[in-house]
Amino acid sequence: MKKDAHLLTLDKEEMRSYGYKVIDAIVEHFDQQDTKSPVALASRKEMDALFQEEIPLLPTAPDEVLRKVVQDVLPHSNIVSHPKSYSFVPGPSNYISVMADTLATGYNIFSGGWAASPAAAELEIVTMNWLLKLFGFPKKKGGGIFTSGGSMANLTALVTARRIKCGADFSKAVIYMSDQAHSSNVKAIRVIGFKKEQIRIIPTDGEFKIAINKLQNAIARDRLSGLQPFCIIASAGTTNTGTVDPLNDISEICRAEDLWFHIDGAYGGAAILSKKGKKQLKGINKADSLTIDPHKWLYQPYEMGCLLVRNHKWLRDTFVERPEYLRDIEGNTSEINFYDHGIQLTRRFRALKFYMSIKTFGLDAFAKAVTYNIKIAEDLEAHLRGSSMWEVVSPATLAVINFRCNPIDKDYNEDQLDQLNQEVSRRVIASKEALLVTTVLMKQVVLRMCLINPRTTFNHVEETLSSCEYHARQIIEEGF
Ligand SMILES: *Cc1c(COP(=O)(O)O)cnc(C)c1O
Repeated sequence: MKKDAHLLTLDKEEMRSYGYKVIDAIVEHFDQQDTKSPVALASRKEMDALFQEEIPLLPTAPDEVLRKVVQDVLPHSNIVSHPKSYSFVPGPSNYISVMADTLATGYNIFSGGWAASPAAAELEIVTMNWLLKLFGFPKKKGGGIFTSGGSMANLTALVTARRIKCGADFSKAVIYMSDQAHSSNVKAIRVIGFKKEQIRIIPTDGEFKIAINKLQNAIARDRLSGLQPFCIIASAGTTNTGTVDPLNDISEICRAEDLWFHIDGAYGGAAILSKKGKKQLKGINKADSLTIDPHKWLYQPYEMGCLLVRNHKWLRDTFVERPEYLRDIEGNTSEINFYDHGIQLTRRFRALKFYMSIKTFGLDAFAKAVTYNIKIAEDLEAHLRGSSMWEVVSPATLAVINFRCNPIDKDYNEDQLDQLNQEVSRRVIASKEALLVTTVLMKQVVLRMCLINPRTTFNHVEETLSSCEYHARQIIEEGF
């Protein structure tokens, strides 16, 4: 072993050539990903066979490790930025942000406090102000923080809501959301120590919006029982259908009842950039707290979530702690220490990728992309409605559409339709051509497409539909 191995360094030329190889791999991936399969299928057994080993005590040549990673690790993941990756929420990242993450990591910037990295804190303030303005939040008073993702933003919001509305005793507090709200909200509520009985899941109407009358009934009943309603979580773009809850109505209820108004816009918030989306998101500016998720529809690579709040003091009042060893770096209050505004102390420099990608491409390009995404889902809806093979189950909303195979010349019952569509999805994925999974809406198994990749063309979508139709015909022929 080399004498200075404990320094964990490479010499300058080694670093350079190693780095070039890494960049080459990334660029090759960006250039070639459309020609690859978006689906990774591998069993634990196969992965064990590739990777299981005892912890290596001795060195391996850098190139050899890198080669193994490029060859065996990176290809065994779904390509979430593939144009035929329709499922869950795709991750159509962008190259500038990838390089920004590389820089932030390369310089290993501690983005916790002002004193450690004033420019990083300033960029988080600047980009946060961009977002506050975009969503119509109070410019001076408003605040926010970048998080690892939407789950962490929701968690941060709920801790804040509880602190501001309930103080120390939250034993009687009750929180409301619809049956279409994202699971991360329930998870967050559990994490912060609420009991199951303190959550009310309100049914949705035929359009998957929270049923306002049922929400009001639940609040009234809880008050009569001596409980303390304290927060409503509205969805601004449910993950399932893109549906936006009636934000203005909910805002009025919150005002009348003195409840915290949290909006989970992790999926749909970005639609504010388009004319149509902005209309659908009317009322989003009335939230006390708003989750958005730039690593979804703002085209950022993982991990980047964001929480916006009407009043930045709420975050400080909730999260500030003053250990002795941070005494010297408190600074003045305009110089924000983001460790005071959220859960993490040591934080990576997330704002950089947002800043660099928006500055490089310009916000108009992002707006155009979002507008395109909404349009392509609508085009697909029209196409499906004109076909004797398909049925639209939930219309194109914020670039999400749900549909199922229901051939006009057959008379299948619901069980058969469920089986047929489940099997279509299974075969499409088994063929690895597209990532297209099912969801369940109104007890029906349906195919769901989330079309937030600006590089997905209608041609891609048509090809995938053709494959689905091919598989459907086969399944029908085989009998089921
Ligand atoms: C994806 C999503 C979340 C969770 O966000 P992560 O970034 O995956 O943690 C929360 N709410 C909604 C509506 C989402 O779509």
